Amino acid sequence: MKLQVIGDPVLHSKSPVIHGAMLGALGLDVSYTPQVVRRGELPDYLRWARENGVTGFNATMPHKEDLLPLLDWLDGDAALCGAVNTVCLRGGRWIGFNTDGGGAQAALEGAGLWPVRNVVLLGAGGAAKAVAFRLAQAGAERVWVCNRTAERAEALCGQYRCQALAPAGFDPATLRRLAAQSQLLVNCTSLGMAGCGRQFEDFSFLDALPQGAGVFDLIYHPAQTELLAQAERRGLPTLNGLPMLVNQAVLALEHFLDRPLDRKAMAQAAASALRGEEA
Ligand code: NAP
Repeated sequence: MKLQVIGDPVLHSKSPVIHGAMLGALGLDVSYTPQVVRRGELPDYLRWARENGVTGFNATMPHKEDLLPLLDWLDGDAALCGAVNTVCLRGGRWIGFNTDGGGAQAALEGAGLWPVRNVVLLGAGGAAKAVAFRLAQAGAERVWVCNRTAERAEALCGQYRCQALAPAGFDPATLRRLAAQSQLLVNCTSLGMAGCGRQFEDFSFLDALPQGAGVFDLIYHPAQTELLAQAERRGLPTLNGLPMLVNQAVLALEHFLDRPLDRKAMAQAAASALRGEEA
């Protein structure tokens, strides 16, 4: 059995370390390697993978949406959010899954930040889609999707036709007003990410959050973004993107192996391998 992660760029991906650790903990002799696949090369890659014994792969930028028309079947989350991060070859058919939303929910639960009633979610890109949809499915009464480009937030909320999702603006006054009614703020924008070069200009929405409200940043590089540092200074509980990364990988491995795993043990193996890498 061979597994891969594809993307462009992909060589920086932590997925080989995470999956290598989980496969090692299971005692399985399965390879998991990164493969650069450029935009437009997906049909060739799928042909090559089939001929070379690759039975599953994870997909990162820029393929999460481009894969949709090339697959034979989409599982629930992938079909609903219109993005795929995990693909398995089953009975000769390529099946697409999305484990980002499930990974985010598991990370929030692990940190004691879920369930909550109302969520302010910043961003409307690929990650925001998966997380907003999942939190709405998981019982949030309201998820305000706040995005710089209003049309993208409207399109995201329109796509799901789900009462819990509502588009909103990204200006400081709107963010403060919605934060005051929320128990969780989730950053799904790339603001604050290493290499992005851009930062939030105004953190006053953090002052509006009620005491005890959680602040979850999907970014894991750096481990503590300016958003999380500012939230911590205000005494708010915080969570970075690493537990989500690990949990989405655990869910992906269950799809690759087509069986349930001891999720806690898998997450622990992955987290300790990542710590070892940093040391
Ligand atoms: P994406 O599709 O490119 O979306 C980027 C989002 O950031 C868009 O909503 C965009 O708004 C917003 N944005 C960018 N620059 C901005 C600015 N200057 N001001 C305001 N908003 C801005 O990216 P993605 O794939 O969703 O990823 C988003 C973040 O999540 C990245 O940092 C990524 O590393 C992280 N992520 C983490 C995990 C994990 O497992 N922890 C998984 C997936 C992604 P516009 O629509 O207005 O352009």
